[in-house]
Amino acid sequence: MVYYKESNESKLTCLLCSYYCDIKDSEIGICGVNSHINKKIECLVYGHVSAFNIDPIEKKPLYHFLPTSKSLSLGTVGCNFHCTFCQNHGISQKNNIDKSNYISPKQVVQIALEKKCASISYTYNEPTIFYPFAKDIAIEAKKQGIKSVFVSNGFQSKEVIDDMVGIIDAINVDLKSFDKNYYKKKLGGNLDQVLNNLINLQKKGIWFEITTLLVPTKNDSLEELTKMVKWIKKNLGLNVPWHISAFHPDYKEMDVPRTSFKSLKMAYDIAKKEGLNYVYIGNVGYDNNTDCPNCGKNLISRKFFDVKYYDLQNGCCKACGQILDGIF
Ligand code: SF4
Repeated sequence: MVYYKESNESKLTCLLCSYYCDIKDSEIGICGVNSHINKKIECLVYGHVSAFNIDPIEKKPLYHFLPTSKSLSLGTVGCNFHCTFCQNHGISQKNNIDKSNYISPKQVVQIALEKKCASISYTYNEPTIFYPFAKDIAIEAKKQGIKSVFVSNGFQSKEVIDDMVGIIDAINVDLKSFDKNYYKKKLGGNLDQVLNNLINLQKKGIWFEITTLLVPTKNDSLEELTKMVKWIKKNLGLNVPWHISAFHPDYKEMDVPRTSFKSLKMAYDIAKKEGLNYVYIGNVGYDNNTDCPNCGKNLISRKFFDVKYYDLQNGCCKACGQILDGIF
């Protein structure tokens, strides 16, 4: 895909995310890392990785995607959102690019091969803003049988979602709130666009799981969570995994307490009552089980990022033959 197009008054429109920034010559978009230079939009963080780790895929979190595998995880600096509770604000809210440090897509894939990673995850900051780099890595990775994963705020442009088909294998999308004003004033982007993108990802057949970080007093009311779960059920169905994750004080929200287990369990119970098949409570050591949605047999059992029990055969329940949703 072409990542920008001509706009009026000698500006260029960046096509990476749904802000569609119109950028004047020598200026930079909202994310702080895509700039109009010499009649092109240049992704300034291309090749400049700010963080590299090897993580269990369960940490992304993706629970229905190659369980127990390792994922080479990387991010750059910058973000198109400005969440006040960002747990990676040290890189996401910075745009000081370390240009002395360059790595090519082929070199990234070579590391993934050497470390026996089944996938490469583009994570830590919003990968959509460095899609040109992520895509080039993903294409190289595919040649070696390595898959690609986005951990994203779900604010891609329509053009990027179209382009991801066959390139990006799975996404974890943060659904951060169900309040339009909160998105607009405190996070970035907008709720309706994120919801439209979830529907679009499903139409395109890209596997995704949803994560909601429960921030006390900000997005954890019974009413808001019920609306969110009902929307998921109505628009995406019962088989999209929903991860409910615990907040800890960070960045500009140091006065907000940690999420209580009671609050996490309330969200879990709402989702189970509505019939969602795969609901998980993250980062508090809860026993997260995946049971067969047909016969109820336990298929996978986890604690933190460890898979303690795994009993699938070719992605199916051994007892009744039901295909488990996801990529196994
Ligand atoms: S990635 Fe999004 S925020 Fe950044 S310049 Fe492009 S449209 Fe703007």
